[in-house]
Amino acid sequence: MFNTLSDRLTSTFKNLRGKGRLSESDINATIRDIRLALIDADVATPVVREFTGRVRERALGAEVSGALNPAQQVVKIVNEELIAILGGQTRNLQLAKSGPTVIMLAGLQGSGKTTFAGKLARFLRDQGHFPVLVAADLQRPNAVTQLEVVGDRAGVPVFAPERGNIGGHDVVADDVEGTRSYGDPVWVAQAGVAQAKVRQYDVVIVDTAGRLAVDENLMQQARDIRDAIQPDEVLFVIDAMIGQAAIETALAFSEGVDFTGVVLSKLDGDARGGAALSVASVTGRPIMFSSTGEQVKDIEVFHPDRMASRILDMGDVLTLIEQAEKAFDKRQAAEMARKFMEEEDFTFDDFLQQMAAIKKMGNFKALLGMMPGMAGMKDQLNSLDEREFDRVEAMVRSMTPFERTHPKQINGSRRARIARGSGVSVSEVNQLLERFTQAQKMMRQMRRGGGMPGMPGMPG
Ligand code: GDP
Repeated sequence: MFNTLSDRLTSTFKNLRGKGRLSESDINATIRDIRLALIDADVATPVVREFTGRVRERALGAEVSGALNPAQQVVKIVNEELIAILGGQTRNLQLAKSGPTVIMLAGLQGSGKTTFAGKLARFLRDQGHFPVLVAADLQRPNAVTQLEVVGDRAGVPVFAPERGNIGGHDVVADDVEGTRSYGDPVWVAQAGVAQAKVRQYDVVIVDTAGRLAVDENLMQQARDIRDAIQPDEVLFVIDAMIGQAAIETALAFSEGVDFTGVVLSKLDGDARGGAALSVASVTGRPIMFSSTGEQVKDIEVFHPDRMASRILDMGDVLTLIEQAEKAFDKRQAAEMARKFMEEEDFTFDDFLQQMAAIKKMGNFKALLGMMPGMAGMKDQLNSLDEREFDRVEAMVRSMTPFERTHPKQINGSRRARIARGSGVSVSEVNQLLERFTQAQKMMRQMRRGGGMPGMPGMPG
């Protein structure tokens, strides 16, 4: 995700490296590159303008710093401004103080709503909640069946009142006002919520119908459902791959249903994704989750600071650690975190360890993209299969323990030996080493200068 944008921004910063001082024309040139990169990534024009304006102003006004060289200073500013357009703080779900928390999903057909409903249900279940899904999408043939399949995978019950079936029992939603009508999504949503109350589920996720394009009937229906069930959260699900149309769609839903948060779906695709970057800033609503695949486990809480790090190829070490903790040895994960905090250099041994963990975790492309320095490999990543992954691993395994912890000492003859040992060309070894050194440097800079964004207890 955001591959091209990431590549473009990092290469822009590369041009600044080694400069002792930035002149106004250096800064202007950099801003121009950033602007073009954002526009090419489909970021909405007003957002681009505001973003580059702020970066420019801050870069020009930046004091000469003892800790950061000018290039690092620009990266730091861009990072902070990226976090700002992505919504700033991480925003968690607002849970109801009493009674079940009601979460309504809205979005266009095909945006990934139903898939996300299952992921969210599973995510909440894993946190100890008792969620239930309500099938209020009566528009699309099969939508109810699809939600049942999704619920089944998530291990969460589905209420489908329009079938006269609520959680496997007959409808007993007599306390729902209005005429009982199985064809009426508003009634269905209400009956579902009423049932959840009676049966003491603590979260109700209501999946609503979408259309292929924004239309007034759709908005009216969404508003009616919203007014009837008074949700604690209305999450707008948007396909990150829809390009510039994202802005228009987001604004239409923002005016039409007034959602409280955004879900970016299909972030695993390699589309430009920039439009998605504009949604928070254009609608003033935070991105709360991202959906990164077709499996029920492919859901992440959206952290603006971590996403900015990923885009700038500083690696999303925190998410990686969290995923690692879920999948493997907590001690190893803690050790990785400690190293990162305590200025110890990331070594090829750590790299191997992460790779092993990633393999265990599955969905390894998404995870690999979070590793520092890996964004430079995006093209390879996309066409990647396990074999290429194995080649990198083979190279690292052909290094001696000394080489793994002292990558700088890997001279020409060592490189040739590693290449021979792993059956690749010397230039592949060179590339790996270069990427690795850059990643190390980047991590060091983030720690020393200005701190790692989002690391608790570090100066920001
Ligand atoms: P809905 O019409 O909004 O309910 O959309 P669906 O949940 O039915 O999703 C539409 C299509 O997108 C389906 O084929 C899903 O498998 C696929 N999909 C949904 N979420 C993701 C995602 O995060 N990544 C990918 N790659 N595909 C997704």
